[in-house]
Amino acid sequence: MSNLSKHYGPEYVRAIAPYQAGKPIAEVAREFGLDEASIVKLASNENPFGVPESARQAMAAAVAELGRYPDANGFDLKGALSRRYDVPADWITLGNGSNDILEIAAHAFVERGQSVVYSQYSFAVYALATQGVGARHIVVPARAHGHDLPAMLAAIRDDTRLVFIANPNNPTGTFIPAADIEAFLAKVPAHVVVVLDEAYNEFLAPENQFESAQWVKRYPNLLVSRTFSKAYGLAGLRVGFAIAQPALTDLMNRIRQPFNVNSLAQAAAIAALNDQAFLQRGAENNNAGYQQFVAAFDKLGLAYVPSYGNFVLVKVGDDAGAGARINLALLKQGVIVRPVGNYGLPEWLRISIGLPEENDACIEALTNALAE
Ligand SMILES: *Cc1c(COP(=O)(O)O)cnc(C)c1O
Repeated sequence: MSNLSKHYGPEYVRAIAPYQAGKPIAEVAREFGLDEASIVKLASNENPFGVPESARQAMAAAVAELGRYPDANGFDLKGALSRRYDVPADWITLGNGSNDILEIAAHAFVERGQSVVYSQYSFAVYALATQGVGARHIVVPARAHGHDLPAMLAAIRDDTRLVFIANPNNPTGTFIPAADIEAFLAKVPAHVVVVLDEAYNEFLAPENQFESAQWVKRYPNLLVSRTFSKAYGLAGLRVGFAIAQPALTDLMNRIRQPFNVNSLAQAAAIAALNDQAFLQRGAENNNAGYQQFVAAFDKLGLAYVPSYGNFVLVKVGDDAGAGARINLALLKQGVIVRPVGNYGLPEWLRISIGLPEENDACIEALTNALAE
């Protein structure tokens, strides 16, 4: 009895290491006595252009209806996505961010005690979603900081129900070519659901943007996950979606909260989805900013992982204290980036690509920090 009263909840919930988000600007301003306006935040892979004007207008128009519940089935947004990706509307599941999609997938497809496969150095939420349902983690060692798909295939067990793949991967920025993913999908046992998380897809060069939504037609166990948080500039609204065949979507819909995507988010997402000019501007800024950073890293003699996303992983020292030390030196100068010690990369920092002047400020602060 005394043992029981000591703790609440199951052991596997108590074992969860909470998600570490990027530090908010206001918090850094308070902690380091800085002016909020002077702070540069390149910590959460957010869009440096902020909310698209098209989405602002759509939200303003939607405010009048906020007294009512959102459309629980997201009819208009699913319709727009269905046309864009050429899949039936009932193949789409909406999420309160794509984080929600990852969680819903774990709850819908995995039972306590079964196993989930994902890669070392892949997105932190895969571990959280696995742990949250009391499943067993099978973490496959990375190859060159990216997914080793043949090793992941070999790691699948009879009790494996889910595989998470991030492409491009966060926090390393690595990319898996279409042929490798297709070869993997062709061999994965039919009882295993593959979540292909493409949160950064829109930043890929056109030749790398394969039609993963069309693969869903051939692979009944494939679920493609996308988000409006990154390229579409709507991170604060929380809206993402999954594309999968109805056998999977049907289960996801039983698990998700009925009103998981709010009305403003639905309206804004439709507007952003059709805003090609915004996406184009973002991609161009991202390419230029990436060049700015890698040129600086080369000059500073820093190793980095070539990135396909809107961020870059850079090695800021050789000792296990390097990431934390340089991060603190950057914070003191009003620059927020992301330490990745929790990913097992304590010598590295992940820097989101911002506007040219933000990148310059970060590079200057990094140069100072390394000279200290
Ligand atoms: C940012 C990110 C997401 C999800 O973000 P949401 O804001 O929840 O849509 C999903 N996967 C990866 C790999 C990410 O980096």
